[in-house]
Amino acid sequence: MDFIDLKTQQKKIKPELDKRIAAVLEHGQYILGPEIDELESRLAEYVGVKHCIGVSSGTDALLIPLLAYGIGPGDEVIVPAFSFFATCEVVALLGAKPVFVDVEKGTCNMSISSLKDSISNRTKAIMPVSLYGQCSDMDEIREVAGGIPIIEDAAQSFGATYKGKKSCALSEVGATSFFPSKPLGGYGDAGALFTDDDSLAKTMREISRHGDVSRYSHSRIGINGRLDTLQAAVLNAKFDIFPREVEERLRIGNAYIKKIENLNCGVTTLEVKEDRTSVFGQFTIRVSDRDGFRKHMDSVGIPTAVHYPSVLPDQVAIADTDCNVPNSRELSGEVVSLPMHPYLSENDQDKIVEEIASFFK
Ligand SMILES: *Cc1c(COP(=O)(O)O)cnc(C)c1O
Repeated sequence: MDFIDLKTQQKKIKPELDKRIAAVLEHGQYILGPEIDELESRLAEYVGVKHCIGVSSGTDALLIPLLAYGIGPGDEVIVPAFSFFATCEVVALLGAKPVFVDVEKGTCNMSISSLKDSISNRTKAIMPVSLYGQCSDMDEIREVAGGIPIIEDAAQSFGATYKGKKSCALSEVGATSFFPSKPLGGYGDAGALFTDDDSLAKTMREISRHGDVSRYSHSRIGINGRLDTLQAAVLNAKFDIFPREVEERLRIGNAYIKKIENLNCGVTTLEVKEDRTSVFGQFTIRVSDRDGFRKHMDSVGIPTAVHYPSVLPDQVAIADTDCNVPNSRELSGEVVSLPMHPYLSENDQDKIVEEIASFFK
């Protein structure tokens, strides 16, 4: 059994993939080829915003808006304590201070009360993470932010909805990742930015291309953060079936929740709030004897993973020792992710659920 099955998906779209990759090899525009424009307009339409900017990774998609807002030393950016390292790494890279807030135990997303306590007059941006594929309380965050820019780290939630709108369309900027294992994944590193703001879009696009306003004319300091033409070609082929895959993710994720809840054992499933849908970028549960549970699953051939075994302020590179984030700490000791992808068969899912039950018996 695979933790994420990318082969079945590839088989489904192989002719289109081959055709699209061959077209790039034929025209040879490996940098800023026409596939990028095509992908950007398709994704902007899907998300429901004016601008999509393809970039080189999800990490650069977080870095670029921080650069666009001119964030640097002396500034603070609020991030959840429980996320992938990149969320705080980009803040520290610019010499700004990542201020860690706690998450809710039910969803593992940013806690509004913790956010309220952490805003100061140095706060220059707030980066909620749509962890495991579910958006945070974006309206409440906007209210508390009082105009401070909100950058959604939507690396795990592309395709999710919040009150009928798509993830990446919920704040000033949405940043996503097309890392191979994300809901929409390429065959390498890639990412994208989404915004309705014309001037911010222009700035972010320039920053992703060495601050170019035109060739060899640099108006600002930027990075080499462009999306590759070949990745755009792959993503165009994958995007053809993406909306269907999102439906399957929803169906499979919700079936997991029902089946596991019916067991009435020692497993806690995460809460998906009523006004939103999760794409289950990961399907994550909480188990107090996590090591024992993983050993059991491994012994019966079911792969599991831990996202994430520690909180961000404990990372040596950050070492923010006086950070008080009890929920994040508790979760980091209990969360475990099960196999999850749009092609997970009912048979395999039932086997996984049976093995959960047999561990707890
Ligand atoms: C994957 C991920 C990133 C980084 O994306 P890359 O494309 O790997 O650079 C950032 N934040 C979160 C929450 C992620 O899951």
